Amino acid sequence: MSIAENIARIREQMKAAAIAAGRDPESILLCAATKMNDSNAVRAAVAAGVDVCGENRVQELTQKLSEHAYDGAPVHFIGHLQTNKVKQVVGKVALIQSVDSLRLLEAIQKEAARQGIRQEILLEVNIGHEESKSGFSAEEIPGLVEHFDRFPNICLRGLMAIPPISQNSGDNRKFFQKMYTLAVDITTKKVDNVCVDILSMGMSDDFADAIACGSTMIRIGTAIFGQRHYI
Ligand SMILES: *Cc1c(COP(=O)(O)O)cnc(C)c1O
Repeated sequence: MSIAENIARIREQMKAAAIAAGRDPESILLCAATKMNDSNAVRAAVAAGVDVCGENRVQELTQKLSEHAYDGAPVHFIGHLQTNKVKQVVGKVALIQSVDSLRLLEAIQKEAARQGIRQEILLEVNIGHEESKSGFSAEEIPGLVEHFDRFPNICLRGLMAIPPISQNSGDNRKFFQKMYTLAVDITTKKVDNVCVDILSMGMSDDFADAIACGSTMIRIGTAIFGQRHYI
């Protein structure tokens, strides 16, 4: 199956999941997780109408930007970002989805101020309390958001999560539901640079469940590009 055919199939599945949940299919964005796929594959995904491209590694981002691979779709950063690499990402992407520590928030604030811009971000939540994963705990989020005016050069657009790897379909629904509740909770907070309208969750194996639970952006790699070949 071609990238375009895969995307057409995913769009159908997204639509079915949205309608089943009584939601508007247009309210859910498709982000192509492009890691380990080259610029030609990314161009094919953009041509086939993905809403957003999501890149994981700074090196790949820089290379594909220089090759104009993402032209026609906004690019987001979705991988773990080291503080010493923020200069290569801030101002280069429309949204940093994977802000997973206070230290990183502070580094982004500093770099965005230096550039005189306002960087849009999501906070990454370690919703499964996994030792191996970075991210804020769900409990930390409300307090952090209340004091978000500490970061005048950052605009908080919402939350992102990667739930634990599951064995059975449906296993992640409880995490998706927790994320939805948390997102609704912070939406009610009136802080200047907080405008929460994005809930990024759901990947190739569980996006229908994520949509059922309120996701507004799914991030799909394998189901678009095929298996990744780790070297
Ligand atoms: C790779 C990746 C995805 C997509 O995973 P698939 O299971 O291949 O769809 C989504 N989000 C993030 C942060 C990723 O790194």
